[in-house]
Amino acid sequence: MSTSSGGAAGKPPEVLSTMYDDGRRRYMRPRLFKGRFWQARRVLAWFLILAFSLIPYLKLNGKPLMLLDLANRQFTLFGKTFLATDTILLMLFMLSVLISIFLLTALFGRVWCGWACPQTVYLEFLFRPIETLFEGGPEKQRRLDREGGGLRRAMKNIAFLGIAAFLSHTFLAYWVGIDKLFQWMQQSPVEHPGGFLVMAAVTLLIFVDFAWFREQTCIVACPYGRFQSVLLDRNSLIVGYDHERGESRGTTRDRKRNPETDYGDCIDCGACVKTCPTGIDIRRGLQMECVNCTQCIDACDQVMEKLDKPRGLIRYSSQNELEHGRSEFIRPRLIFYPLILVLALSLLGFKLHGIESAEVKVLRGLSAPYTVLDGGERVSNSVRLRITNRESFERPFWIELAEPAGELVAPMNPIRVRPGETETAAVFVITDAGLFGQAAVTGEVPAVFTVRDSLTFLKRTDYKLLGPK
Ligand code: SF4
Ligand code: SF4
Repeated sequence: MSTSSGGAAGKPPEVLSTMYDDGRRRYMRPRLFKGRFWQARRVLAWFLILAFSLIPYLKLNGKPLMLLDLANRQFTLFGKTFLATDTILLMLFMLSVLISIFLLTALFGRVWCGWACPQTVYLEFLFRPIETLFEGGPEKQRRLDREGGGLRRAMKNIAFLGIAAFLSHTFLAYWVGIDKLFQWMQQSPVEHPGGFLVMAAVTLLIFVDFAWFREQTCIVACPYGRFQSVLLDRNSLIVGYDHERGESRGTTRDRKRNPETDYGDCIDCGACVKTCPTGIDIRRGLQMECVNCTQCIDACDQVMEKLDKPRGLIRYSSQNELEHGRSEFIRPRLIFYPLILVLALSLLGFKLHGIESAEVKVLRGLSAPYTVLDGGERVSNSVRLRITNRESFERPFWIELAEPAGELVAPMNPIRVRPGETETAAVFVITDAGLFGQAAVTGEVPAVFTVRDSLTFLKRTDYKLLGPK
């Protein structure tokens, strides 16, 4: 996969498509060709933009559809709450996501980059259309670049800043919840400085990214793009130029001047280069900068239609198909990835099925492990029971000592636990000291606590009481 590319048709290769020879940034002003892929991408883009904006408002089973509550170390997804202790679930989930990305890339190349990545979606279907609204098409934008943007560019930047602020508030809602966000918005920033700073930083980041950095994020910052040479193979789907059909290229004038030359279908019009948001020439082969946005397909298809030639000189294809006329679907990675994915998803499903509506942990008390009472006749153990309520409503939990025979002293029984929160009950277990005499070797006696709620939850948890040997 090449990393260098051409900035315009016929020019010698450059180090970076977005840099002039003297090192200055070459700002991309792509010309849009509204073809069939662009239409389809626009539908998907607006669906994704709406989904991102609406998800924080949606609830399932009384819980947010998605809440990444880092402060309380809880994650709610599709009405289920996961805790920081659910590391195995998190690991399986992350593994499934990673393998899905590998599989998707092996099959469909950079389809994520071109169709669903927020960078592409927001840049091409929100920020760039707004830019065109204020500044006009690519030619007018270039003139503003040369002569200074003036009022038009200032107004565009104000609009960008407003959208960036909206997006950063939405982003924040995923981490703190929409109710808290609205509450914060009505208060002074001094009352929630952390949240305010995050919002301000994200707004600035979004503004700088979409107003200035743009395609550089894909070319130099995004790690996914860097991994392409490993994740793609010669049978993966790419946007490619049919060299066989297109070459040798020649303009209409060339063709008139040299009627005896056997020209290919490419008329060297440069439309595919002018429309490319990363400024590359797809005719130079597969390049790291190509985000598979399909804009060059739409551009070239329109040219071919005008020339009354079949579409697809630039098309979705694979390196093998373009060079040898056929692709192989079955290859080792397409067997290996699905196998691991099925395994990870099965384990995840199994674990998810086993999640209970509350979590109980029994821990030793913070003071001395045990105290001898009544002149050595009885022993008191200080114990803590940590109960986490995964439900979306407050619940009382009753604690009982099932084994051995003894007395349970619990200042709060039942203990009430609010939705998604954890409470710790400090209790004392008073037992006959003779029990420990029987367990003379270890000084430990097995115990069982039961914790139940007013519905169906009942959990038995083993513990070891300590006492004098
Ligand atoms: S748009 Fe098509 S015809 Fe025009 S230069 Fe690109 S490949 Fe050639
Ligand atoms: S080469 Fe084509 S598909 Fe690749 S980024 Fe440029 S316009 Fe998009």
